[in-house]
Amino acid sequence: MSDVRPLEPGSRYELRTGLSPDAPDEDKFKDEEGAFGYCHSYETSSRYDGPGLRAVLFVSGCLLRCTYCHNPDTWHLKDGSYMPVTQVLKRLGSFAPALVSVGGGLTISGGEPMVQLAFTRRIFRGAKDMGLHTAIETSGFLGDRADDDYLANLDLILLDMKSGDPDTYRRATGRDLAPTMRFAERLAAMSKPVWIRFTLVPGLTDDPANVEKIAKFVAPMKNVEWVEVQPFHKMGEFKWKAIGLEYKHANTEPPTREVVNRVLGQLRDAGCQAR
Ligand code: SF4
Repeated sequence: MSDVRPLEPGSRYELRTGLSPDAPDEDKFKDEEGAFGYCHSYETSSRYDGPGLRAVLFVSGCLLRCTYCHNPDTWHLKDGSYMPVTQVLKRLGSFAPALVSVGGGLTISGGEPMVQLAFTRRIFRGAKDMGLHTAIETSGFLGDRADDDYLANLDLILLDMKSGDPDTYRRATGRDLAPTMRFAERLAAMSKPVWIRFTLVPGLTDDPANVEKIAKFVAPMKNVEWVEVQPFHKMGEFKWKAIGLEYKHANTEPPTREVVNRVLGQLRDAGCQAR
């Protein structure tokens, strides 16, 4: 059994590893109760991860292995801090009145929040009880796990599409694109508000044909409020080195303004609200 640890404030760019060495592997993890879970850190004042001012909780565990990931220290449950959900909700409760007063809310990111489905379900439920707007940032790869009760506690899905082309998706993440497409279609059918996020990585996801596939897939979806283009950056490179992983993008530069504008143009031409 891992030691229980406090929920520590911090930033997504702080390296945290080896805090719960006895934790199960994330791909075998069955999270049925959700009374305890594994967290990386939290931020209290993001203006980026949903509408208004956001508290952002970064939970541990992810089944994807994106080659450009800036949080590889959230991939494994064993790298996170083990803690009771009551502690998370108590901490959230101390920010909730301020967040509610400015129309903000809670975003759970990671890692992949649906690895710890029962734990994050309890947190979202608690956040709704506090009157908070709730958002999840997810790849959608585990979207089949999210039952309607889980989605009922979510006001917004930040869906990381990563790629429109299955081969590119597999090269970028090591996994299949189909579950994410299926999840996006389900969210569209239930009119659940979605912001699509697309990381623009030169030499990997920037091919016009790849962008076109995303644009054509997303454009008819009336529930998609925004498609956000996120230019590749290297702020997480030091983590790959510290963990002893090979970072394939050491020589990749952020996309130029021209490429970002070309991608935004492709999305807008297809009918997407893109920024
Ligand atoms: S889904 Fe997110 S946390 Fe998981 S590997 Fe990809 S970028 Fe990293």
